[in-house]
Amino acid sequence: EAEIGILNGALELGAKRIETIMTPMKDVVKLSAEAILDRATLAYILSSGYSRIPVYDSSDPSGFIGVLLVKKLLQYDHLLNLPIRDLPLSILPEAHPCTNCFQAFDYFRTGRAHLLLINCTPGNPGGAIGIVTLEDIIEEIITEEIVDE
Ligand code: ADP
Repeated sequence: EAEIGILNGALELGAKRIETIMTPMKDVVKLSAEAILDRATLAYILSSGYSRIPVYDSSDPSGFIGVLLVKKLLQYDHLLNLPIRDLPLSILPEAHPCTNCFQAFDYFRTGRAHLLLINCTPGNPGGAIGIVTLEDIIEEIITEEIVDE
């Protein structure tokens, strides 16, 4: 039973656009590049519970410059009180909303990134409408919500 569901979920990946499973931008926990990594910002990051935080350039709220990997903060004490833009950020690749879930899965599988920014006009700030992570794709395969620890 469950196995057949998973097979179906996998077979349907190619027919589903990522925009239908994304987390919309209004729900994304993000940080301004100008924000300072002080105690309050750290508390905000930790209370969000997310492990990846997209960073936007305040001159354009949808012009993202990278992703802050929260676990990196454990490594570097000296980062405290620096502006977010000076922290080591990871790349935030963009994908068009019409990209299918299998293409996104293939992208994640090759390990280049685990979070994609969905942008209607990739390369142009302003068109970002949401994000997709590997977990969103896996939920489509198992056709169930994954309960986080
Ligand atoms: P995490 O490892 O941070 O728990 P996952 O990659 O497991 O994140 O994704 C879990 C869900 O949370 C997915 O639906 C994903 O789209 C969403 N998500 C991931 N990062 C963020 C974020 N910074 N803000 C809002 N939602 C997010």
